[in-house]
Amino acid sequence: MAPKKTVGILGGGQLGRMLTHPAALLGIPLIILDEGDYTPAKQTLLAPLNEDHLDGPFKSEEHIRALAKKCDVLTVEIEHVNADVLEAVEREGLCEVHPSGKTIRLIQDKYLQHQHLHEQGIACAPFAALPANPTHDDVVAIADKLGLPLMLKARTLAYDGRGNFPLKSTEPRHVAAALEFLGDRPLYAEGWAQFVKEVAVMVVRNTKGEVRSYDAVETIHRDSILRVCFAPLRPEAGMVGVNQRARELAEKAVATLDGAGIFGVEMFLLPDGSLLLNEIAPRPHNSGHHTIEACHTSQFENHLRAILSLPLGDTSLRVPSAAMVNVLGVDDSMGPVEDIADASLAVPGATVHLYGKAASRRARKMGHITVCGPSDAEVRGAVRTLLEAQPDLDA
Ligand code: ATP
Ligand code: MG
Ligand code: MG
Repeated sequence: MAPKKTVGILGGGQLGRMLTHPAALLGIPLIILDEGDYTPAKQTLLAPLNEDHLDGPFKSEEHIRALAKKCDVLTVEIEHVNADVLEAVEREGLCEVHPSGKTIRLIQDKYLQHQHLHEQGIACAPFAALPANPTHDDVVAIADKLGLPLMLKARTLAYDGRGNFPLKSTEPRHVAAALEFLGDRPLYAEGWAQFVKEVAVMVVRNTKGEVRSYDAVETIHRDSILRVCFAPLRPEAGMVGVNQRARELAEKAVATLDGAGIFGVEMFLLPDGSLLLNEIAPRPHNSGHHTIEACHTSQFENHLRAILSLPLGDTSLRVPSAAMVNVLGVDDSMGPVEDIADASLAVPGATVHLYGKAASRRARKMGHITVCGPSDAEVRGAVRTLLEAQPDLDA
């Protein structure tokens, strides 16, 4: 076998951490760029490789260029990186970059992403731009156009719903609360998607253009944060072919973007069985974590295979039913997270993943638990037990 190329990852969080596991199995050298010596991803590699990790911001030109010098391929575990520098690295031929800087730039701005998908004929919720520092009248004009409720969204730096505010009325105090919550970030608005379920599909494409998707999953969010994911998606009564159509839509959307790697495609399933695209993540995604235990080849291994021009692995499920439950921080203390993990160890079929984050915060993703089982009934029973062990964050 030819010597493995060295992969540089911008970002050292839990997604980077889960990339290190298949990298170790395949003997792929990985170098992580992130601030701090013990980020989740830097804790898991063999000691000699750790010396190569870079301590610095993944937005810093100097650090990204230093990483490119040590690597053959750069990739990301977070989209909020410095796309300008990634494009320069590609242009100057310093390193391969997957997915491309251009794709990452487009996805970073959720409004431009929507515009792109819309232009490509992919159905999304109706959307409209807002001017900088919008006034009450600007929001009323958008509500007249898109109807209420609507979702006000930050265009950039959004994750785990932290840039979203659902607006139910245009009463001045509601609009003022929304604009205060979202701050002075650039905003846009989306019409409300009256979905019956949220659906996600992971799609992987290698440098040779070979594409594979995973089975669609059902994702359950609360306050815009993913809590539980069920695999595979089970159709609603009377709906046919939803899994297949979701996979086709996700593959079509990814085909409009440049670069190799894994993509997470989030969708809304409407009561008439049609699908709207919500957003695309150009990286491993929380709705694909179950693939580690539940699929023949995980999203993380397939991402590495894809960017290294290796044959893609089998995306199919190897169990009849699976689920993933996120472990969210309850407050600033680690105690509740450890208690949830301990209780989960007693659940048959459950695998506990803790991310090794240095500090807990309310609603921060601290880990997840995967359950595999012989039937939906058994998996759902285990999920209920797991959720009972978690304090209600809404309380
Ligand atoms: P992620 O962590 O997935 O990157 P994000 O912060 O980018 O999340 P979105 O995916 O835009 O946020 O929205 C988070 C959740 O908010 C969605 O999964 C969905 O539950 C809800 N949501 C978003 N947009 C809409 C919409 N137009 N209509 C109804 N619900 C929506
Ligand atoms: Mg997002
Ligand atoms: Mg999302």
